Amino acid sequence: MIEHEGMNPELDPRGGEGEAASCRPVRLIIVDDEDMMRNFLREVLSEEGYDIELAASGDEAVERLEADSFDIVLTDIVMPGMDGLGVVAAARKMPTDLDVIVMTGYASMETAVESMKLGAADYITKPFNIDQIRIIVANVVKERRLRRQAAEGEFYKELSRKDGLTELYNHRFFHQLLETEVSRATRYGRSVNLIMIDIDHFKQYNDAHGHPAGDMALRKLAHLLKSCVRACDYVARYGGEEFAIIVPEIGPAQVKRMAERVRALVDETEFEGEDVMPLGRLTVSLGVATVPGHASSKIELVERADQALYAAKAASRNCVVVAQEADVN
Ligand code: GH3
Ligand code: MG
Ligand code: MG
Repeated sequence: MIEHEGMNPELDPRGGEGEAASCRPVRLIIVDDEDMMRNFLREVLSEEGYDIELAASGDEAVERLEADSFDIVLTDIVMPGMDGLGVVAAARKMPTDLDVIVMTGYASMETAVESMKLGAADYITKPFNIDQIRIIVANVVKERRLRRQAAEGEFYKELSRKDGLTELYNHRFFHQLLETEVSRATRYGRSVNLIMIDIDHFKQYNDAHGHPAGDMALRKLAHLLKSCVRACDYVARYGGEEFAIIVPEIGPAQVKRMAERVRALVDETEFEGEDVMPLGRLTVSLGVATVPGHASSKIELVERADQALYAAKAASRNCVVVAQEADVN
């Protein structure tokens, strides 16, 4: 039996930092119809600190997997009733992140390959020695940890880009996106548009109904804005009750129509308690500007759209104003 000399993080049964954070050992189920093999594997692997259960058949294993949460299945291929391939297929259908390692004799290498095609994480050929089994399980544990860390990294990255109230992109990420889109448009001779949107007399809505109701209206508006853009457009919360939509690839006439559609949609949508507003409805004003027509840089584009929005406020509110053609080189 192998001596257990300190904890190599790669062989850490808690899966290193990831599983350690959840403070529970990796849960393993060993599936084999031979008593001796099950008990031998349990002995070897429990020394590594895994939390181990045994199943004498594929059917029993699937029952346990459905009833409880496991991380890894170590299964024999040749068994009466449901065989190892059946276990792999059943594990793939489960909603949990489950890895299956299959154990196969030399004679059934083809089955081992088949099981990998079905989604098994790895296989081990019999007869195997203790080191082999320890290393194969440890490698799968390590892969699981890396996978989870990558997914967590993605999750936190996405979270850092979003505004907490509306779940739209936040101000900081909006600027990054706009910088990228303006550079792209400039480099390839394409266009990109910016629509700035500001709720009319929103202070009045807040004053009448309170801040929490105001927040609800902001969320509803955010949802509405997302519903009326294409997949390649970006909707962001620019500030308090100001929003922005980055619209790549369409011309000034089209973007004006799009802004008008947004205005009309907000106007027609019912917001709770909107009768307190000056027009009796919750409405927005919109300013539109385009690279290359009105601006040649990100800063200029924001300025032009902002000026257009200001003009919309000055005109009548609940309207769209397109930036003036600028002398752009
Ligand atoms: P205008 O038509 O000129 O835009 O009038 P306005 O009242 O919308 O503009 P003003 O800039 O005077 O006021 C903005 C209001 O938006 C005041 C503030 O209470 C509200 N507001 C800004 N951020 C939030 C927020 O996160 N939640 C809520 N509930 N209200 C907010
Ligand atoms: Mg404002
Ligand atoms: Mg406003």
